[in-house]
Amino acid sequence: MQYIHRFEDGAAFQWPLGKVVCVGRNYAEHARELNNPVPSEPILFIKPATAVQSFAEPVRWPAQKGECHHEVEIAVLIGRDLKNVDEQQAIAGIAGFGVALDLTLRDLQSKLKDKGHPWEIAKAFDGACPLSGFIRPERVSDLADIPVRLTVNGQVRQDGNSNQMLTPIPKLISYISQYFTLQAGDVVLTGTPAGVGPLHAGDRLLAELPGLLSAEAQVSGAG
Ligand code: ZN
Repeated sequence: MQYIHRFEDGAAFQWPLGKVVCVGRNYAEHARELNNPVPSEPILFIKPATAVQSFAEPVRWPAQKGECHHEVEIAVLIGRDLKNVDEQQAIAGIAGFGVALDLTLRDLQSKLKDKGHPWEIAKAFDGACPLSGFIRPERVSDLADIPVRLTVNGQVRQDGNSNQMLTPIPKLISYISQYFTLQAGDVVLTGTPAGVGPLHAGDRLLAELPGLLSAEAQVSGAG
């Protein structure tokens, strides 16, 4: 199914999907739960457009690659080209907010990390980025107070807030733009709060920015 950015009212966004720029360990508690040091600068990686799918599609991952972990994240839709921007320009370039899953083949990632190799293949596979519809930026009054939550089979597993981010959203977008030009239609994933864990076939997922938007997905499993 061809993925198109949409707002929650169903309106299509005028720009097609581009790349997805992600940040690792942007919540100290999550860094600690995986026994990772808390970084002094954002750790960036990219998911290609082929990793993105809507929440309406079943969640699956490559077979025989070990555990696939959920990482719920606040997603920021970029509305204009941003290169070497400051924080004010970064804020002005936001076209919407959504919720995403940064699906991660954790066993594979751990092996790659042990060898000091890039972990791209553990994070960039087809379907590795379920993405919700977006709310318009006016709906968010404070970028430093956006809640994000993931419920699996009725149990809350991850419950965070952008106020816990090591690099807040405007600073993160500004930082990214020093290295890669962000283009209209790109998405920034802003890191995951603590509580990540493995998914299983049959799991029902509810990803939310509580009070703002929600998206449900069904896990079909490896294969
Ligand atoms: Zn992540």
